[in-house]
Amino acid sequence: MAAVTLDKVRKVYPNGHVALKEASFEIADGELLVLVGPSGCGKTTLLRMIAGLESISGGTMRIGDRVVNDVAPKDRDIAMVFQNYALYPHMTVRENLGFGLRLRGVDKAEVDKRVAAASDMLGLDERLDHRPAALSGGQRQRVALGRALVRDPSVFLLDEPLSNLDAKLRLSTRVEIARIHRRVGATMVYVTHDQIEAMTLGQRIVVLNGGVIQQLDTPMNLYNKPANLFVAGFLGSPAMNLFHGTLRRDDGLRLVMADGSITLGVDAPALAAYIDKPLIVGLRPEDLLTTADHPGITERLRAHVEVVEPVGNEVFLNMRHADEELVSRVPPHSSIQPGTDVGLGFHAGRLHFFDPETTSRID
Ligand code: ATP
Repeated sequence: MAAVTLDKVRKVYPNGHVALKEASFEIADGELLVLVGPSGCGKTTLLRMIAGLESISGGTMRIGDRVVNDVAPKDRDIAMVFQNYALYPHMTVRENLGFGLRLRGVDKAEVDKRVAAASDMLGLDERLDHRPAALSGGQRQRVALGRALVRDPSVFLLDEPLSNLDAKLRLSTRVEIARIHRRVGATMVYVTHDQIEAMTLGQRIVVLNGGVIQQLDTPMNLYNKPANLFVAGFLGSPAMNLFHGTLRRDDGLRLVMADGSITLGVDAPALAAYIDKPLIVGLRPEDLLTTADHPGITERLRAHVEVVEPVGNEVFLNMRHADEELVSRVPPHSSIQPGTDVGLGFHAGRLHFFDPETTSRID
């Protein structure tokens, strides 16, 4: 097992495109770290640089104590699982699993032992003598995982391994990957653009945008203390509500918006610098409470309910307050109807504040 350390690692493609500006962080030995961000943010590039499939334009990359900038992929002791798991169609599952080992000259007894262990861990025992064509998509993806597992590498690199699976299979395979990680205790780097996958799998998550690391933290810290507006908007579905206005102080702090104002009910010291200046206030949909469903809560604004979306265990209220679109998650038994006005409140401690100019969190 090994840690992976990046020190000011950069990637500039030959056409001049800067895919990764300057990344410095460490993936701890045995950690499952997720790289997440929108399409084109540079996550695959970063993973391929760890694998050695993409050259490093600047900085230093280490696996364990070894600088690997110029080390060939096959000498890095890594295994990669891709989105398009190319299994050999003419080989059985057993042969597919053992192929890489045989190629490396591992003796047959050892190959059999490792294939049996991987097959056991992945529940493929019944399928060992089948060809890939006779497997379901989920089973094929498990074989692809198994091919990485038998190698027993220091570091596993997974690039959107679930994106070809249907929703139900994605969920069960996701749990499978978490289980494998716990059992083998290997360092894993997992790339996805899916925030749910990132939140559920990652011990820590790197949020990337435009080749720049936006934040690196545990899932709950990212959710509860997003470092900037990008992270606040990227994680969480429906996305965080944002109120744009000017901060005023009279009796207490108020956010004055184009139409109306909200009494904030807090006086965070960091906000002193924003009095009479533009400010963005954020509130997660689960923290924007209707007075109808929470009788004890003080009404701080009213909004018009446009669309009510039941999703089973809860209901999304899509509302409008002047120019701002708002979403609230309410209990499934809520009787709020579209076309009505509702009173809304919140617990002041749940507010997030952002600087409109720098987009950074204020606290
Ligand atoms: P996706 O989720 O769509 O796979 P990503 O976050 O993995 O996206 P990358 O594939 O790492 O993104 O690409 C990052 C940026 O670098 C993109 O803007 C992409 O167009 C660009 N890029 C990727 N490969 C090359 C290349 N060989 N030459 C020039 N630019 C490239």
